[in-house]
Amino acid sequence: MASPLDELRKVVETCKACRLHRDRKNAVFDRGNPNAPLMIVGEAPGEDEDKSGLAFVGKAGQHLSNLLQAARVPEDSVYLCNVLKCRPEKNRFPEGGPEPEMCRGYLLKQIVQVKPKAIIITGMQALRYLLLWETSEEWSPLHPWINKQFRRRDLFEDIRFLVCYHPSYLLRTEIEEDEEAWIQAVGQLWAFVEHKLAKTPPAPMSFVDIRPPPTVARQGRNLFGKSRGRIL
Ligand code: URA
Repeated sequence: MASPLDELRKVVETCKACRLHRDRKNAVFDRGNPNAPLMIVGEAPGEDEDKSGLAFVGKAGQHLSNLLQAARVPEDSVYLCNVLKCRPEKNRFPEGGPEPEMCRGYLLKQIVQVKPKAIIITGMQALRYLLLWETSEEWSPLHPWINKQFRRRDLFEDIRFLVCYHPSYLLRTEIEEDEEAWIQAVGQLWAFVEHKLAKTPPAPMSFVDIRPPPTVARQGRNLFGKSRGRIL
C-alpha cells in the first residue's frame, strides 16, 4: 500500500493548480530519506531538478552535499524538498497568486508526514515564501498563514528551525566566513538532532552569527573551490 507521502507525491506530480505546471518537465517533490530526522527546504527546482524530477541534484545540490559533509551530517539522514514544486520560468520567483498558497500546503503535509526533528530553510526567498504576505510588499511575520500553520504547537513544537544561506548564494559569493558560519550552525543543529534521537539532553546551542548578504560583495573563495555563476 502506498504511504501517505507517496500519495501526496502523486498529487503533486499531476498538480495543475497554477500556471507553473505549463512549462515544467517534472514536478519536483523531494529527494532523500523520507524517515530522515533532518529536512532541508529550498526555494524551487532549477533546470537540473526540473529535468530529473529530484530536488537539489544540480550545482547547488552538489554544494549542499559538500556543506553537509563538512558539518558531519550523514547523507542518509536528510530529506530534501522545496517550497515550490515546479520550476518558475527563467528561475523567476513568483510573487503572490496561487503558486505559494498551493505549494505551502503541500510542504506542510510533507512536514507532517516526515516528522523531522529539525528543518533547515535555505535562503531568503524560501523564508519569504514561508513567512510573508503573498504580495511580498511587506515583511509580516504575523501573517495569518504562519499563525495558523507554523504556530500550531501540536505540529511544530518539537521541531527546531534553522534559517541559513542558500548553497547557491555561497557558491556565487565565495565568502569563506559565510560558509564557515553555515557549517558551524548546521553542525550544531545536527548535534541537537543526534541528542534528540538518543533521547539525551541536547547541548546548549551557542549563538551563531549568520549575517545578511553584504551590500558590497567581499572578495574571497569559498571552502570548496571557486565555481561562480547564478545557480538555482
Ligand atoms: N535550488 C533550490 O532551492 N532547490 C533545488 O532543488 C535546487 C536549487
